[in-house]
Amino acid sequence: MRDAAPNSWDARAEAATFYGFTDLPTINERGTVVLTHGTGPYVVDTNGKSYLDANSGLWNMVAGFDHPKMAEAAKAQFDRFPGYHSLFGRMSDQTVLLSEKLVEVSPFPRGKVFYTNSGSEANDTLVKMLWFLGAAEGHPQRRKIITRVNSYHGVTAVAASMTGKPYNALFGLPLPGFIHVGCPHFWRFGQAGETEAEFTQRLARELEATIIKEGPDTIAGFFAEPVMGAGGVIPPSTGYFQAIQPVLRKYGIPLVADEVICGFGRTGNVWGSQTYDFVPDAIIASKAMTAGYFPMGAIILGPDLADRLQAASEAVEEFPHGFTASGHPVGCAISLAAIDLILNEGLAENVRALTPRFEAGMAKLAENPNIGEWRGKGLMGALEAVKDKNTKTPFPGDLSISERIANTCTDHGLICRPLGQSIVLCPPFICTPAHLDEMFEKLDSALRKVFAEVA
Ligand SMILES: *Cc1c(COP(=O)(O)O)cnc(C)c1O
Repeated sequence: MRDAAPNSWDARAEAATFYGFTDLPTINERGTVVLTHGTGPYVVDTNGKSYLDANSGLWNMVAGFDHPKMAEAAKAQFDRFPGYHSLFGRMSDQTVLLSEKLVEVSPFPRGKVFYTNSGSEANDTLVKMLWFLGAAEGHPQRRKIITRVNSYHGVTAVAASMTGKPYNALFGLPLPGFIHVGCPHFWRFGQAGETEAEFTQRLARELEATIIKEGPDTIAGFFAEPVMGAGGVIPPSTGYFQAIQPVLRKYGIPLVADEVICGFGRTGNVWGSQTYDFVPDAIIASKAMTAGYFPMGAIILGPDLADRLQAASEAVEEFPHGFTASGHPVGCAISLAAIDLILNEGLAENVRALTPRFEAGMAKLAENPNIGEWRGKGLMGALEAVKDKNTKTPFPGDLSISERIANTCTDHGLICRPLGQSIVLCPPFICTPAHLDEMFEKLDSALRKVFAEVA
């Protein structure tokens, strides 16, 4: 148990801030890391200790913590026009420019953008759009939303209902009408004797059976992350999207790609859906969209949904929904700078260049007898700790194995995230090969230390 001085940053952090998504036993034991600033991919705490942030903040600080172009774009726009909404027939010029840019870089020949302040709100908003559309098109019963077990779509009441994580039961969620189908994680959920292709076909059959059981005319949409992020970095099984998209099309159900993590370069292409070779009906974006320099989310509607929603809105004269800061001019200016950095100034290219080194480092760590598998795509990956590699048996939950590993990493100046029994790595796009080497060395020593302790 720690003994924090009452006026330390650590004690003061806890005294007046209510913590979300924080392991409280770890706080009781170790306290809170209070940060003052960052340099490149490193963040620095109030004691002057520096940490390589192998999680890019929370997936989003892809340009690092002091990128001059990002700060410049923000300052210039704060000086020019520091705030406005995009409702009632007014919007900033930056909002116009960003919408054009988002449609241009989208997989759609044309489309329309709607702005929110977060990824959760973007998912909530698109669900409301689909409900609105169903009602307007004479199918008011078309309200159910299908997502997958282990998916993460956010925390607002609707987005949490979409999220397929057990902790939402603590809130009495999901709301009625939110349905979860199987997670495409072959290593964990494949059956004995089943090939990966057969596993994928089984999931597609399960999806179709679920649609038929629920009633095809009651389903408003299917949402999926191209690679599941907060579920533990789970790439889809082979051919997954090619197997499920025809099922959804057969019943007229829109496929929405929640690209909040994958979008803007994380998997090596602009979109994760590009990496997995499918074109969704709409895209949810956030996180790297502003390189984390502003809270912002967006829905990019493909042509079919854009046209139908436009018609539905015209029928009642407006789409009655929007946030005070929707399309904020500073957020839009920052996002334009971030997209330019990622797509035109080498960040996405750096992701592609670093990927072989990242994969080799992960594969090397996965040789550890207590690592069951490594998985990932581009610059996102996870290492799954197991007690027994052959039987894939997890460690007992009360060992908090991944928290121990992450805490040991923190001691060594490396930030990485425990998720279930896995450790998640998603370094900033500005990393150099030397940063990746540092990350793997520190993680390797933490893994050896912790596995020796629990052996
Ligand atoms: C982070 C995340 C969200 C939620 O975004 P917030 O900005 O935290 O509300 C939604 N979907 C995915 C895939 C995410 O990773």
